[in-house]
Amino acid sequence: MTMPEPFYITTPIYYVNDVPHIGHAYTTIAADVLARWHRLIGEKVFFLTGLDEHGQKVQQAAAKAGIAPQAHCDQLAPQFQTLWQKLAISHDGFIRTTDAQHQTVVQRLLQKLYDAQLIYRAEYTGWYCTFDERFWTEKDVDNGLCPDCQRPVEQLGENNYFFRMGQFQQRLLDHLEANPSFIRPESRRNEVLGFLQKPLEDLSISRPKSRLSWGIELPFDADYVTYVWFDALVNYISGLEYLPPQPSVERLWPATVHLVGKDILTTHAVYWSTMLMALEIPLPHAIFAHGWWTVNGEKMSKSRGNVVDPYAVVDQFGADAFRYFLLREIPFGQDGDFSHESFIGRINSDLANGLGNLLSRTVTLIQRCCQGIVPSSHPSEVTELETELQAAAESLIQETMPHHVRRIEFNRTLEATWGLIQLGNQYIDKTAPWVLAKDPANAKRLQTVLFHAAETLRFLCLAAYPFMPNTAEEMARQLGLSHDFSQALLKNPIAWGDGGSGATVVKGKALFPRIETPAAQSPAKPHPEASTPASKDEDDLIGIQDFQNVELKVAKILAAERVPKSSKLLKLQVDLGTEQRQIVAGIGKKYSPEDIIGKTIVVVANLKPAKLMGVESQGMVLAAGDQEVQGLVTFEDVDIHPGTKVK
Ligand SMILES: [Zn+2]
Repeated sequence: MTMPEPFYITTPIYYVNDVPHIGHAYTTIAADVLARWHRLIGEKVFFLTGLDEHGQKVQQAAAKAGIAPQAHCDQLAPQFQTLWQKLAISHDGFIRTTDAQHQTVVQRLLQKLYDAQLIYRAEYTGWYCTFDERFWTEKDVDNGLCPDCQRPVEQLGENNYFFRMGQFQQRLLDHLEANPSFIRPESRRNEVLGFLQKPLEDLSISRPKSRLSWGIELPFDADYVTYVWFDALVNYISGLEYLPPQPSVERLWPATVHLVGKDILTTHAVYWSTMLMALEIPLPHAIFAHGWWTVNGEKMSKSRGNVVDPYAVVDQFGADAFRYFLLREIPFGQDGDFSHESFIGRINSDLANGLGNLLSRTVTLIQRCCQGIVPSSHPSEVTELETELQAAAESLIQETMPHHVRRIEFNRTLEATWGLIQLGNQYIDKTAPWVLAKDPANAKRLQTVLFHAAETLRFLCLAAYPFMPNTAEEMARQLGLSHDFSQALLKNPIAWGDGGSGATVVKGKALFPRIETPAAQSPAKPHPEASTPASKDEDDLIGIQDFQNVELKVAKILAAERVPKSSKLLKLQVDLGTEQRQIVAGIGKKYSPEDIIGKTIVVVANLKPAKLMGVESQGMVLAAGDQEVQGLVTFEDVDIHPGTKVK
């Protein structure tokens, strides 16, 4: 029997010149999802993150604060560590480049390259940008400004140590050629190939202490410290020497995947790869570069004051909503935009109305109809609906999810998961357990339906766990499941019906309470023009106020049945986003109940309740037609969540 490959995943180590922001959170959450998934399927996982604490900008930030660089790092480190705790990050190792063990490894590797004559000393003159800590050539510099940050550059000549990076250009190209999935996604791979079309220069890996003292001293020249990137990149292997529970550097390296932002792809794909080649260490299996987040369509910056503070977002909306949004909104690899509206929209539609609703309905119905015990299925009662639900749940867990997670396609995984959630909600709408519950003759059917709803949630709980660990725990608790998510729960395929029945459900608070936005809350305010009374000549026209007095809302039809003894009336149960209402509508000649379940319609939400054929109606649906109804007002092509105002 062969040992399974361990899964070693890293984030970049974050530079401690500032507090953590959405970009740090994004990479770390993505790595966490992968780590949790691989643990769930029984792989040995090592997930490494940490901090890059040396270099000019750290030295400058510390000087500005009037403290020693180490004290500055020690102050910032807990800000990252606390954030990871709040975001439910399950890293196995946290490395700081000021760790003594790390510094020892950096010096050992430098000495090895120096002894192999892969590092040499030379005089270098060029244009230097202090901010970016790098030299530029004459052709890069425009008007005396740094091409990267637009700050003034200065002519500087100094002796430095150089790593013979250029010597490895062809080998790197060959490696990229032979390993198409080494750099991902494809577009980023092409960028690296483009970069390698130009001659690859040697890399200065030292800084004279006269201008930078905050770094690791070169083992072969005490007048110099190590260039911060050389120091930082080494963390991916130095961390393995002292952070895992047992020394397993041999087994864990090469890393399965380095997750990085697209801005630091070159340093990883070129500097790091050639460093490893020179050191005769195998290259990582993959480097995946993700995109950047803008905020409301603009680049995030302190001067614009639009920096998304992950601490504040988590305090207000919880870690899981944030984790979900970042990975659902855009394909991993592309750029995305963070806006309050889209975030709230996802919370309300996907999390509250989708997942939260499915759990709460199921638990409530089991409590109401089955004394709170998850019932068993009766084979004689299993119809196509149940078979379809079971097949969808099994294929999500056994095929779709492993396929997409392995390809680092988070949004696809979540789309598939939400497909099952939608199917689950539709299943409850179609089977209408509250109707079945009215007749004891339906007991077996009712039990079968509620078993299938609960079983769907048991599968969903596992699918949700890597993305939303807190939510999965709470789902398991409400479903009465004794899941220990630290165990490899998906190591062996889970089967439909091998758990759940007999569990006692526990009604808990809503997983994701709907967020009421100011627009949805405020009563319609009179439009300025509307305050002018209509003149006699305009008697047939109404002011905007008259229209605004009618509260029109999007609603979803959850259930429908005919009103007994009426050919025209249907009794509908509709989801209004915040509540469920019963509406009696005269649409029974045009539609049969099964035609309209699941449709998104428009209702008058502030109509006084009335009784039609003795059945209470709490609103009115909008339909076309005078004497005879010809069609309902519906939304076909767009996914609009219930409760949305119609105006
Ligand atoms: Zn610059």
